[in-house]
Amino acid sequence: MNLVLFGPPGAGKGTQAARLRDGHGLAHLSTGDMLRAAVEAGTPIGREAESVMASGRLVSDELICGVVAERIDAPDCANGFILDGFPRTLAQAEALDAMLRGKGKAIDAVIEIRVDEAVLVERITNRIQETGGARADDNVETLKKRLEVYRAQTAPILPFYAEKGILHTVDGMQPMDRVAAEIEAALAPGRASGT
Ligand code: AMP
Repeated sequence: MNLVLFGPPGAGKGTQAARLRDGHGLAHLSTGDMLRAAVEAGTPIGREAESVMASGRLVSDELICGVVAERIDAPDCANGFILDGFPRTLAQAEALDAMLRGKGKAIDAVIEIRVDEAVLVERITNRIQETGGARADDNVETLKKRLEVYRAQTAPILPFYAEKGILHTVDGMQPMDRVAAEIEAALAPGRASGT
């Protein structure tokens, strides 16, 4: 089973992805984590991505599609994977489709975690306080930019997946366990097509 977890920053994608990874034996592919590792390691990709990430904007489609194409060929993805933070533009969604088709694979379900923007600002402000701003892009100004980018470039992908009949929307304002239960219900056998 190959999944996409979709939602704005702070929606809880990382938490739900970790549960799906453990519950279903899927690889968790977070493009944000991959890019942060590249920045940390000082690779050419990391050097290219660093300032873009710190500003809350998106790295180029070409760069991130290259990273994902390589990653999904790894052996741990053979049983399925969860994409977290990718695709983020329509061009990435189309490139992903073509990339998977070439490998005889497809996305089985896209889970959109929907959360109110005011709640997101509150959640991320709390995370910044708890972690002491451990992430370079964890500040309120960057968050606002990231939400704006989500609205303008990422949310418009949703109709692309709705048309394929694989989009499931869950209410991310509920407690974490409830969100997880809704996701499991959406993925249950016999519920292969969208809500
Ligand atoms: P995340 O941890 O998913 O919020 O990602 C952190 C940052 O990495 C984003 O704000 C972007 O700058 C960059 N990034 C992660 N995934 C993508 C993507 N699919 N396309 C472009 N930029 C990305």
